[in-house]
Amino acid sequence: SGFISIIGRPNVGKSTLINRFVGQKIAIMSDKPQTTRNRIQGVLTNEEGQIIFIDTPGIHKPKHALGDFMVQTALKSTRGVDGVLVVVNATEPIGPGDRVVLDHVKLLDIPKFLVINKVDLIDQSEIFDIIKTYTDEYEFDEVIPISATEGYNTDILLDKIMSILPTGPQYYP
Ligand code: GDP
Repeated sequence: SGFISIIGRPNVGKSTLINRFVGQKIAIMSDKPQTTRNRIQGVLTNEEGQIIFIDTPGIHKPKHALGDFMVQTALKSTRGVDGVLVVVNATEPIGPGDRVVLDHVKLLDIPKFLVINKVDLIDQSEIFDIIKTYTDEYEFDEVIPISATEGYNTDILLDKIMSILPTGPQYYP
């Protein structure tokens, strides 16, 4: 059981992935602006325990004060968790918003996975080069190409998440 932070730019598929894991939409909606939301997006309970997925507000290009604040809020969600999933979009090159996240995550002393999502939209022969653009610059414990909508590799990703979590109950009230 444990806590997993899911981090990445808007529209990379974070919610889709969490909803696939959790199987039901229990996103906590808020009237507050996205900048102040840092929410529990999903709770998965199975025979091995429980995983709490913490979604982050959108990461924006830190070109002005508000953008910078959003980034800081999102990055705070990586404190005290057991592992972090950085989700990126296979169809887009690494952007400044990705780099802010990647540079922060680099400093964390917890298991970190790079999840390259939307591989259903690209030619399978491109996957290796995409992985390389990330792994040339950043180190991850696992790099997993997935499709959150098609379910490609998502079971494998979940097994890998399970394998890094502490065993035993750690139930969220
Ligand atoms: P978030 O902002 O990171 O939470 O992204 P969402 O989960 O809201 O997804 C953004 C959009 O991308 C939605 O229209 C999803 O249906 C779409 N999407 C998410 N994952 C995939 C995927 O693996 N393949 C494709 N083709 N579309 C996806």
